[in-house]
Amino acid sequence: MKLCLLYGGKSAEHEVSLQTAKAVIHALDKNKFDVFPIYITKKGKWIQGPQIKESVEDIKLLQFSNGDEEIMPQSLSKDMDMVFPLLHGPNGEDGTVQGLLEVLDIPYVGNGVLASSAGMDKIVMKNIFAQAGLDQVEYASFIRSSWEADRDAAYSEVEEKIGYPSFVKPANLGSSVGISKCENREELAAAFEEAFRYDRRIIVEEGVTAREIEVGILGNDELSCSVAGEIVPKKEFYDYEAKYADDTTELVIPADITETDYASMKEMAFTAYKALDCSGLARMDFFLTADGRVLINEVNTMPGFTPVSMFPLLWKNSGVPYPELIERLVRLGRQRYEEKQ
Ligand code: ATP
Ligand code: MG
Ligand code: MG
Ligand code: MG
Repeated sequence: MKLCLLYGGKSAEHEVSLQTAKAVIHALDKNKFDVFPIYITKKGKWIQGPQIKESVEDIKLLQFSNGDEEIMPQSLSKDMDMVFPLLHGPNGEDGTVQGLLEVLDIPYVGNGVLASSAGMDKIVMKNIFAQAGLDQVEYASFIRSSWEADRDAAYSEVEEKIGYPSFVKPANLGSSVGISKCENREELAAAFEEAFRYDRRIIVEEGVTAREIEVGILGNDELSCSVAGEIVPKKEFYDYEAKYADDTTELVIPADITETDYASMKEMAFTAYKALDCSGLARMDFFLTADGRVLINEVNTMPGFTPVSMFPLLWKNSGVPYPELIERLVRLGRQRYEEKQ
């Protein structure tokens, strides 16, 4: 099978994507897969590298530049059997690349256009969750132009509807980029500035005191749920640094939660998965609040995917090791493509 890996990308999660690509290349059985890399630079150029026949130790070797072939996305070779978009965040996890692959009629791994775009946008995602009857935190959304026109009105609205502490987030991002926790109006103002650097729409959420529990889902129509895992940040919250730079965060797998809470999460995760029309995979993130409520926080349609990321570890602890997980995802992508024909 000719498998094309797409990684890098224009988003703030470029570096994470490179780590994922390195790990996936390492895990792929080169007897089963002919691996072809395409590196997307931070500026959005697509650069095709030579076939990869063995593991790559240094991610710099995956960042092709001079002498390698720049291609137009639409000329992505049709003789690829499958594309695996290892991209996080905007222009990758958000349905845009998926749309391109649909138009080119090339099968790909992971979620389709609708689930990717709806899942990437925290405002749309939460509206869909609300419609599906899922419990979640209070939230409000804002557009840059109306905030610029009257900042105090926006802050007053937050204080009325949400209060403190609150979390301010760009609508379309991940890896905690652009997210701040606020305790007062001064922090709220700074948080709006920060979040609007990344997006023209932002979401403000009620901050809860809660344990953070996540489950992994695999499947198209028939779904499997992994064991649950807990994130134990040793900082104020699970921010970008805690995710990738330091080792201040502990992942506890399986999470020490009751069977009842696990059952609620599994049911809510399946409901959310179907409501968004997910396929392939998703990581569903929950809050287990101090007063015992289970709230859905978000879906990640292309979750962190290095071997030390939560999603692969959840599956490893559920009896699906990393190389098998990748093969299962490839099969699910193939199956979805065939069902559409
Ligand atoms: P990723 O896609 O990497 O999981 P993200 O950028 O989509 O991250 P969130 O998961 O929404 O961001 O938030 C990042 C972290 O901030 C959470 O893991 C949690 O620690 C904290 N957090 C977010 N929202 C809230 C909230 N409403 N109350 C309390 N803590 C929150
Ligand atoms: Mg996310
Ligand atoms: Mg994410
Ligand atoms: Mg998250």
